[in-house]
Amino acid sequence: MELTGEQAAMRDVLHEIAVEEIRPRAQECDQEQRFPEDIWDRLVELDVTGISVPLEYGGLDVDRRTYCVIFEEIAYGMLAVGTALGVHTMATACIARFGDDELKEEWLPEMAAGRPIGAFALSEPHAGSNPRAMTTTAEPTEDGYVINGTKQWITNGERCGVIILFARTDRGDPDSVTQFMVPADLDGVTVERKEDKLGLRASDTCQLTFDDVVIPERYRLTEVGRGLKAAFEILNGGRIGIAAQSVGLARCARDDSVTYAQDREQFDQPIAEFQTIQHKLADMETKLTASKLLTYEAARRDDEGLPVAKHASMAKYFATEAAVEIANEAVQIHGGTGYVSPTDVERLYRDAKVTTIYEGTTQIQKTIIARHLLGRA
Ligand SMILES: Cc1cc2nc3c(=O)[nH]c(=O)nc-3n(C[C@H](O)[C@H](O)[C@H](O)COP(=O)(O)OP(=O)(O)OC[C@H]3O[C@@H](n4cnc5c(N)ncnc54)[C@H](O)[C@@H]3O)c2cc1C
Repeated sequence: MELTGEQAAMRDVLHEIAVEEIRPRAQECDQEQRFPEDIWDRLVELDVTGISVPLEYGGLDVDRRTYCVIFEEIAYGMLAVGTALGVHTMATACIARFGDDELKEEWLPEMAAGRPIGAFALSEPHAGSNPRAMTTTAEPTEDGYVINGTKQWITNGERCGVIILFARTDRGDPDSVTQFMVPADLDGVTVERKEDKLGLRASDTCQLTFDDVVIPERYRLTEVGRGLKAAFEILNGGRIGIAAQSVGLARCARDDSVTYAQDREQFDQPIAEFQTIQHKLADMETKLTASKLLTYEAARRDDEGLPVAKHASMAKYFATEAAVEIANEAVQIHGGTGYVSPTDVERLYRDAKVTTIYEGTTQIQKTIIARHLLGRA
């Protein structure tokens, strides 16, 4: 797919930063389970923390293809940074899409400038693939709402200043799910726990609790009962972004494999001379290219205003599963070296897995695709 001059320039700048500045920090951040705030500051300098913020509020308001270019390159450097930016971007997109002018004026310029950081709190301990089962409530009062409940697996949970929150306004009615925004420093908002994860360890994934949190009426972003529709609309873009990040991660695994296969010698020749290794590289390249085509096709449709839900799911399903397979083969090509830190392929292998889980598992993406085919979407 053709990139415009501007998109290609953005790709080149970000690729250099990914290689020179982000990737060298990945191992240490993974081991220490610490998000690199200086890298976030670097993204702020490049204005990419405002990619989904309209121009009048200080953002870049990029099209979906540019958005994919940005996420692909950042994830080439470190998936945890791409994930943090992806969720922040979803939060700004929610306010830009559903907030009123006063709310946008109040929050978007600062969020575009990188802080406060956004979180997107949909999942709960007993409501993951089925968010309608959520039990968090936003009980209406005279001039606002009182929030109570627990949100699970919340990316940017520790770092965030603004939480896009989904809650039922009527405890017994799953159709009452509504979207709100909640400043993270309000009384009653608590980071209950930070998860210790297989991969993506530099990203803060947290359980958040809301205990009688009082918010004004103006922090309600959608009509009562329109919260899940709004979430799914924003998740279409998010899923294309995850697909792009999976492409970036897989490219990194492929590049390392090509280099290693030519350097490492066994039986007096580079292992790249063995047909088995060549076929692994060929499989990687083919899956990577197919992932990229699906991802950028979904982005093109989004940019052209065409229906995108099925294509976003196809891109997310295929690219994330391909990234897991490519990272797996990268470890295999590296042999024992690939199984130990600090080789990057070891981390890429652990990081890749989460892409098939968050923002809708592979099984849920397949369900969405089939529903479209069967006319049930
Ligand atoms: C690192 C990380 C970061 C995350 N960040 C966020 C975040 O910022 N905000 C947020 O809201 N959530 C976040 N999530 C949550 C994520 O979106 C959920 O984990 C995901 O939606 C799956 O939900 P679950 O974990 O409850 O699994 P479950 O829904 O319990 O699913 C368990 C298994 O059953 C399968 N399954 C479930 N229903 C069906 C079905 N109908 N048909 C076929 N198979 C099915 C699933 O595919 C899966 O294999 C994050 C998760 C992780 C791991």
